[in-house]
Amino acid sequence: MVVDAGESTGAGRPPVTGTPMAAEGFAFSVEARDGAARAGRLTTPHGVVETPCFMPVGTKATVKAVQPRELRGLGAQIVLGNTYHLFFRPGTEIISAHGGLHGFMGWDGPILTDSGGFQVFSLETTRLLRDDGVEFSSVYDGSRHVFTPEVAMRVQEDLGGDVVMAFDQCAPGTLPGPELEAAVERTTRWAAACKEAHSRRDQLLVGIVQGGVDETLRRRSAAEITGVGFDAYAIGGLSVGERGEEMLATVALMDELLPSDRLRYFMGIGDPIGIVDVIARGVDVFDCVLPTRMARTGTALLRGGGRLNLRNARFAADLTPLEADCDCYTCRTFTRAYLRHLVTQKEILGAQLLSLHNLRVLLRLTRDARSAIRAGRFAEFVGHVAGRGSAGG
Ligand SMILES: [Zn+2]
Repeated sequence: MVVDAGESTGAGRPPVTGTPMAAEGFAFSVEARDGAARAGRLTTPHGVVETPCFMPVGTKATVKAVQPRELRGLGAQIVLGNTYHLFFRPGTEIISAHGGLHGFMGWDGPILTDSGGFQVFSLETTRLLRDDGVEFSSVYDGSRHVFTPEVAMRVQEDLGGDVVMAFDQCAPGTLPGPELEAAVERTTRWAAACKEAHSRRDQLLVGIVQGGVDETLRRRSAAEITGVGFDAYAIGGLSVGERGEEMLATVALMDELLPSDRLRYFMGIGDPIGIVDVIARGVDVFDCVLPTRMARTGTALLRGGGRLNLRNARFAADLTPLEADCDCYTCRTFTRAYLRHLVTQKEILGAQLLSLHNLRVLLRLTRDARSAIRAGRFAEFVGHVAGRGSAGG
């Protein structure tokens, strides 16, 4: 690695190995490949992220019902914060007063913030799409606001996450062709504006490729976004209603089109089978609210993709753990009957314990995927996970 004279990675920061990035203190390297699947290492100023990696979502600066120290114990390496929600509640001033999100939420590991774009485009409010951004009403009080690339960059700089996202138009593949094409054009223009506006050198800015499941538009978006040039790339606009095989074909296409030495982030996938499917097509990191959201409705996620609804009466006298071979605190300590009791009595502990288990399932799955890739037996691993799924849960 070449280090410029006088450059320092800073006291206490992890050593930077791999391909250095424009962002200071960051690097990414692919350490092993098995087919298209990759095992990599992302170095950030707040620690190393070994990939493939599932990123728990902490929408409002909390991974719901889970303490930061518990996240550490579960093997979480990086968590997400949500720009839209944090911008409105509590606002960036309060978070800045804590030195940024790390201090505010008590998590000293890497943090990724989204751009707010997904909420602006998906939450049911009246919105006006403009060339320079989006005018919309806050879901909190109905007040009117405009998010532009410049605003999205400023807010994310104030929040102080390690990895920040370009402001894009998240367009589902189900949109008519001309609208999807307009979204691709807008996303490219906004990506360039984000790169121009982003000034914090200690943050990694990620460019987002759109285009739904339209191959021509995906190719065009990938060419334009890599043309703007980013340290890492995200695959946006999938997992929003298109068919499974179209989604996977698009991810496989992205493996061809994105630079092989850059981190790839698939936005929004959280079921075990879906996760191994995208890892098999060259994705490094992904996120989803699924494990914690399901936990709050009394549902346990199983490693093979099955689910257990703890409200079901058949668990009332079930003295077995959720999953016999799970190493989480919940499975090592409690029976299905006890968990069902907590869920049906609406006890807070039920959501907490199910959240621990559901997160552990995905974090362990991705850690095991990494080991399998490094050992050159990823195909066997995929078969094992899929086999558990078809065995039922
Ligand atoms: Zn468990």
